[in-house]
Amino acid sequence: MSGKKLDKEGEKVVEIHFLGTCSGTEPQPNRRHTALILEYQEKLFWFDAGESCGYTAHLLGLDLLQTEAVFVSHPHMDHIGGLPHLIWTLKKLESLSKVPLRTEIDLYFPDLNIWYGLEKMLFLKGRTLKNGLGFCINLVTDGVIYAKNDLMVSAVHNLHLGKPESKENWQSFSFLIEAADKRIVYSGDFKTMRELEPLFVNEVDLLLVETGHHSVEEVCNYLVENQKPVGQLGFIHHGRAILNNPEEEMKKAKTIFGSRVFFADDKMSLTL
Ligand SMILES: [Zn+2]
Repeated sequence: MSGKKLDKEGEKVVEIHFLGTCSGTEPQPNRRHTALILEYQEKLFWFDAGESCGYTAHLLGLDLLQTEAVFVSHPHMDHIGGLPHLIWTLKKLESLSKVPLRTEIDLYFPDLNIWYGLEKMLFLKGRTLKNGLGFCINLVTDGVIYAKNDLMVSAVHNLHLGKPESKENWQSFSFLIEAADKRIVYSGDFKTMRELEPLFVNEVDLLLVETGHHSVEEVCNYLVENQKPVGQLGFIHHGRAILNNPEEEMKKAKTIFGSRVFFADDKMSLTL
């Protein structure tokens, strides 16, 4: 990876790499389950880790050993199915690497059973790999969960997996990411648009919203009718409406929201 990425004015650049843009359907051509990377100052921040995300990112030329943190929105297979392979690949790349490595990758889970499952599946002995690359395991809770490297991630619970018995135990979250004066919202899976309200307090430069459980019209109408301050709107985690008829769905989206809308595709990158 060449030096820190700056735009023409010398501002720091945030890049988003879409690795998988499909909801939890049976296999679809050219689309894998949900995962994306936010690249900032040579570091990689993962949001969800659907099937083969490590494979896709590596072949896109991203240096997986620059991974700083992985944030999991909820413990469903279309969001964590690629995680064992990602960790296995990190282990492989670490063993091939000749340069000294940074020591810890932060992993954020709404349910620690995800980690315990990974430990068993990968036969991990402790939280440190062969050459010293280790993992710091964190539980996702409401509020700021990450504030390092000039980047902040806040979590807001949602009702995708219902109400837990204990309020400490929410299982599904949406994320706000703040870096380089940009505000990016990653919806994860959620039940109603109202659940995202706490994330709209200030202007959002990019809203990435799932359509596996929502229609394009529902999302666009909500944002327009409630005058939400959203710069760009990107749909991810596509359900069958977009998978089957993207042109028709895009027409609907543009009619309601205007031209600042896109449907993310696998392997697509976006610079903010
Ligand atoms: Zn999903």
